[in-house]
Amino acid sequence: MAEPLLQTCALTKSFGAIHAVQNVTIDFMPGEIHAIIGPNGAGKTTLINLLSGDLEPTAGEIMFRGVDITRSPVDRVSQMGIGRSYQKTNLFTDFTCLENCWLGAQSRLSSSFRFFRNALDYDEVRERAFRALELCGLTHRRHVAAGTISHGEQRQLEIGMMLATEPGLLLLDEPLAGMGTNEAAEIIKLLKMLSKDHTLILIEHDMDAVFAIADVLTVIVNGRVLETGTPHEIHNSATVREAYLGAPEEAI
Ligand code: ATP
Repeated sequence: MAEPLLQTCALTKSFGAIHAVQNVTIDFMPGEIHAIIGPNGAGKTTLINLLSGDLEPTAGEIMFRGVDITRSPVDRVSQMGIGRSYQKTNLFTDFTCLENCWLGAQSRLSSSFRFFRNALDYDEVRERAFRALELCGLTHRRHVAAGTISHGEQRQLEIGMMLATEPGLLLLDEPLAGMGTNEAAEIIKLLKMLSKDHTLILIEHDMDAVFAIADVLTVIVNGRVLETGTPHEIHNSATVREAYLGAPEEAI
């Protein structure tokens, strides 16, 4: 059986008296789309922040490809191949779409290489930036300022910036937030396409989308894992219905 790409073991994060993530143990398998769902304040973003190195855990472990990354800072985590997008768009709005991807590509290089290998870096970074732009479907917008493209395209570009770091694992925090149906459909198409050669972990409130694209779902309530299973298993779980939805007859 395949080894997990990413594993958390008893992962815990407290903010004073608030236990945002408690004793979370999850195996994320290579190639899967794994959605983290749960009510507001359940600890989903905190969990993603721990996986990306944006936050340091209070206790527990995170292993990526068998390497302990529990206390690795965000730039190290990115260099190891974990990309992350944020809930709010995080773009350089005065820069073109290509320049945004360029910055993403550059961020993957370690600073010592950046200093010594300028000419070599230039070609590599340029190639990565173009590849990322193409993957996220925005080649035709390459010379347009990021601040002037639509909200949906901005989310696509965010994914592009992340792809420019050439990650094997993508952490996506509400990639469909604030989108209309057509824009959401574009992102869903993009995520499905990316899942062919990436592992995806995503938080998303749009349950129709989550159940349509996820291979595995983990339900988190009050910082704890309630259940992990296929969309079918989670959909039919009485525990999930009671704890998460409150009403047994209510469909997820
Ligand atoms: P939502 O779906 O609303 O985004 P979530 O499941 O992502 O919620 P988190 O944002 O992870 O939940 O928050 C979990 C808990 O931790 C909440 O009670 C929140 O108020 C608290 N929390 C998160 N970040 C901090 C922080 N930096 N300082 C103090 N408390 C925090």
